[in-house]
Amino acid sequence: MALYVQKFGGTSVGTVERIKAVAEKVKRDRDAGHQVVVVVSAMSGETNRLIDLASQINEDPTPREMDMLVSTGEQVTISLLAMALHQLGVPATSYTGAQVGIRTDSAHTKARIQRIETDELKDDLAEGQVVVVAGFQGVDDEGNITTLGRGGSDTTGVALAAALDADECQIYTDVDGVYTTDPRVCSKAQRLEKITVEEMLELASLGSKVLQIRSVEFAGKYNVPLRVLSSFEEGPGTLIVADEEIESMEEPLISGIAFTASEAKLTLLNTPDVPGVASRILGPIADANIEVDMIVQNVAPAGDYTDFTFTVAKGDYKQTMRILQNDVIPALGGGDLRGDDNIAKVSLVGVGMRSHAGVASKMFRVLAEENINIRMVSTSEIKISVVIDEKAMELAVRALHTAFGLDKDSIQSE
Ligand code: ADP
Ligand code: ASP
Ligand code: MG
Repeated sequence: MALYVQKFGGTSVGTVERIKAVAEKVKRDRDAGHQVVVVVSAMSGETNRLIDLASQINEDPTPREMDMLVSTGEQVTISLLAMALHQLGVPATSYTGAQVGIRTDSAHTKARIQRIETDELKDDLAEGQVVVVAGFQGVDDEGNITTLGRGGSDTTGVALAAALDADECQIYTDVDGVYTTDPRVCSKAQRLEKITVEEMLELASLGSKVLQIRSVEFAGKYNVPLRVLSSFEEGPGTLIVADEEIESMEEPLISGIAFTASEAKLTLLNTPDVPGVASRILGPIADANIEVDMIVQNVAPAGDYTDFTFTVAKGDYKQTMRILQNDVIPALGGGDLRGDDNIAKVSLVGVGMRSHAGVASKMFRVLAEENINIRMVSTSEIKISVVIDEKAMELAVRALHTAFGLDKDSIQSE
């Protein structure tokens, strides 16, 4: 007998038929003798619909009320799924995040799970119940409902699996595993049998939304066996494994390509090159709680002027422009501001990069052959990211996918 935490995403519970199909699947696993905790998302489109409703009423709603609103989506699904299980004769009880004791900090809309009280949940499992838990939500110490950030049901699933010491956390979604890149953009993408936690963390943080980054962090930290599978078809999916479990012999150079168009770029040209310029530019931005991603500062000829470029989330673009224009430029005594929110970031990820030089130059050559201009570059041990024009994003992904031997039926080249 195994204990599984099974998380079903929005599309997997998107209609009444899909909810019934999930109930059938859960019943099969329970009939096979396993204990099952199910975590569900809101029905597909529901979270966006709720956010849109809010925006029609208030341009700047408080985060607390947003959490109160968007957490309702998951509450609909847990009750419907429990009813579907009852219809099949399976004893099941649904719980909100607060009811099941998912305690978080108070950072509304991006709360972090601090602990989970599992006693009641374990009692239910021992009685033979299927426990159905609302993903994406928790409760803070004052009793306020919180949410974990978009895609947060993945994190609920993995955190519950860690707290219950489950045999596996299974993330059921609308693709049958983690692919070399988003299969919706590149039809030649291939499913990976396995991927390391480290690589999955990079892919998730660089834009692959198949798993929320926090869920991968939990899996790594608490050694939760984590698998991504399709709720629409049978198959082994992709196992996320500890870094040492993949033999270096079989390490591919590149494991995957992530991309995102969710950032914007800002440049301060001709700003006086004085000591502390970077902190004088970025300090006020950090004070406004805006996260900065990539940063490039030109080396200026001694004692002159410099150019400073960085990226922020598109949602923070206008506010960042205002801060630079109104506060930073006057304080620095000059600078011309340029902004561009039609950019994309494309990243190659692979632990094999550690032991291979030349990945960057090959990447640049491939992009040059496609006439794609590189605006910024950043590298780490296991990834290279470039910022390019948004309109070239999909072309870049497909060209790099082919050039690095990731296409289906091709043999990986060095
Ligand atoms: P769910 O609603 O089940 O949580 P998501 O839409 O959040 O599903 O995540 C699944 C989607 O992630 C897929 O439909 C796919 O378009 C996208 N995706 C992005 N990168 C990848 C990748 N490398 N492998 C698989 N899917 C990916
Ligand atoms: N419903 C939430 C969202 O759309 C959480 C999730 O689906 O994981 O972001
Ligand atoms: Mg998701």
